[in-house]
Amino acid sequence: MDAVVLAVGGSAYADPYRLSTAPNYLPSPYPLAKHATNIPRGCRVGILGTGLAAVDVAVTLDALGHDGPITMFGRSGQLPTVRGPQTSYKLTHLTPTAIENAAKNAPLSIDAVSRMIQDELRAAGSSPQLLLRAMRPQPPLARLSAQLDAFLTSSDIGPQILQIAVATVGQDLWYLLDTTAKHWVLDHLHRTVMALCCPMPAFNATRIAKLLATGQLTVHAGITAVHPARSGGFTVATGTGPTAVDLLVNTITPARRHTPHAARGLIDHAIATGLLHPNPAGGVHVFRHTSQALDVQGRANPHLYILGELTSGAFYFISGMPVLAKRSADIAHHITRHTY
Ligand SMILES: Cc1cc2nc3c(=O)[nH]c(=O)nc-3n(C[C@H](O)[C@H](O)[C@H](O)COP(=O)(O)OP(=O)(O)OC[C@H]3O[C@@H](n4cnc5c(N)ncnc54)[C@H](O)[C@@H]3O)c2cc1C
Repeated sequence: MDAVVLAVGGSAYADPYRLSTAPNYLPSPYPLAKHATNIPRGCRVGILGTGLAAVDVAVTLDALGHDGPITMFGRSGQLPTVRGPQTSYKLTHLTPTAIENAAKNAPLSIDAVSRMIQDELRAAGSSPQLLLRAMRPQPPLARLSAQLDAFLTSSDIGPQILQIAVATVGQDLWYLLDTTAKHWVLDHLHRTVMALCCPMPAFNATRIAKLLATGQLTVHAGITAVHPARSGGFTVATGTGPTAVDLLVNTITPARRHTPHAARGLIDHAIATGLLHPNPAGGVHVFRHTSQALDVQGRANPHLYILGELTSGAFYFISGMPVLAKRSADIAHHITRHTY
């Protein structure tokens, strides 16, 4: 074999509250159709997390006619933004060349990235202020309603610019970003970045807004602990006090994901033999242009390519199909041009 592509995926949902053995706890929401149909209609459902999977769970329960209370629990309580109508737009400031030039003498700083984003927003007729307004803390229903209204009354494409940038140059931006800045983003900005860059479809947003408006769905921020109750349910402690639920569905994905269980032996062995070099931000080190594995000396392995979750520390934005397709194309291109 001349070339190998390691694409072993990512770890399953995290279990930060160590509930895996508790009754009435679903460690992962999927397959949703199977799990959701088994949930009694009137029971109090708690959802750990407020991201896309949490939205999926609430929308599916609603579609199945669930009439008990649904509560989402998270640290920030921030729901994903809403995917607006898509406009064709070509980035002029956030280009690979501009990013490489900005990182020519030193790794990119947060300020440098912020300047490029601001220039791009202005060039597109949007503004940083509009984006900051969309990101300011607001109750979930007010935020969702404002976003849904904005699609009817405004033509601002600011959020869409970020979504385009993530799929096209997001990986270059992250790769060339200063290491301290990477850790700061992972520790402080990860949820906001994901909420903006991985939006929910407007259809789901409308269903969530309806559930919030009727009071059937509530979102609690500031989760601190989850305690299994003797009766079989759970008490979830948050900034607003304890909430009792009968069943918990987990949708928590950590900012730094681990190697999946099935691949741990393989990856640990490759690291132990020096074939792979762990990246402190997640996964392993790879060469930016070709996704070839880098060894401890930073040399690209001509036979070994890495795709997907194992490149999370290198590229950060790797979990959606458009990004995977782009990186797969880069790898295929390099393999077909390489003489073995
Ligand atoms: C419910 C759900 C919905 C999603 N919806 C969307 C969506 O709408 N749009 C979107 O863009 N993305 C979506 N995603 C994300 C997308 O599915 C993932 O980003 C994508 O599947 C990752 O592909 P991958 O090939 O890197 O990893 P995976 O699809 O996880 O594949 C990894 C493969 O490696 C195998 N493997 C692991 N270890 C070993 C080993 N030691 N030896 C051999 N094989 C091994 C696994 O069995 C698996 O087959 C969704 C994800 C989920 C969970």
